[in-house]
Amino acid sequence: MQGKWEKRWHPLRQEWVVYAAHRNARPWSGEQVQGVKKELPHFDPSCYLCPGNERVSGRQNERYSGVFIFDNDHPVVGPKAPEVAQEEAHGLFRKESAKGLARVMCYDPRHHLTMSEIALSQVQSVFRAWKEQMQEFVAMPDIKSVLIFENKGEVVGVSNPHPHCQIYAVDFHFKLVTQELQAMRNFGQQSGRNIFEEIIKKKKRMRCAWWRTMNTPSLSSPSLRDMRMRSWFFPARTTTLWPRCLAKSWMDWLLFFMR
Ligand SMILES: [Zn+2]
Repeated sequence: MQGKWEKRWHPLRQEWVVYAAHRNARPWSGEQVQGVKKELPHFDPSCYLCPGNERVSGRQNERYSGVFIFDNDHPVVGPKAPEVAQEEAHGLFRKESAKGLARVMCYDPRHHLTMSEIALSQVQSVFRAWKEQMQEFVAMPDIKSVLIFENKGEVVGVSNPHPHCQIYAVDFHFKLVTQELQAMRNFGQQSGRNIFEEIIKKKKRMRCAWWRTMNTPSLSSPSLRDMRMRSWFFPARTTTLWPRCLAKSWMDWLLFFMR
């Protein structure tokens, strides 16, 4: 059988992950999608993200020329989330109001581009805006976790091709992040070392093809084809907060994203 097939210990998740690369060669009789890129207009009058257009909420987008951020009209979390009855706030199936902030960030006013197609200076603006958003959330005591993500492509159900991402800032800790931070603390207490520095050292020693080190950040991924889905980014310089790290080294990160 072609490809590796083994269990791999995930030092941050603290659990085994089965790696079964040979399964990529299994027969597939399901749906197949051709990677044909549709011709899109620079501006779409029916797009709720294009400059000057009206959104479903009735609000009008600014006639923006760079990055544009607004509160999501259909937020998953928000300050106006419905209150939950007091009697439902306890017990095995307890509920709470879904407070937080949900925003949409357009990378560029042009409807037909993706991040890899916009100018480097504009990508810099996107990174700067991510950093500023994070700094804003860090100053909010109620915000405990932030997720910035982009769903991309019709195939995964994205209804609008305009280059944009979502930002969720929530008032609870994401379990995965909590787990990883606990793994970091446990490793530090047991060994007196920083787990991220150890991971960087070991990966460098393994000389994996998919391991790259820039001037400041480092990247690790189980395989090149998975890089976009499962990548670890570590600052080579120890820092307390991602926004502060970016202040020094975000250009390197940016260039990495552009590859
Ligand atoms: Zn658009």
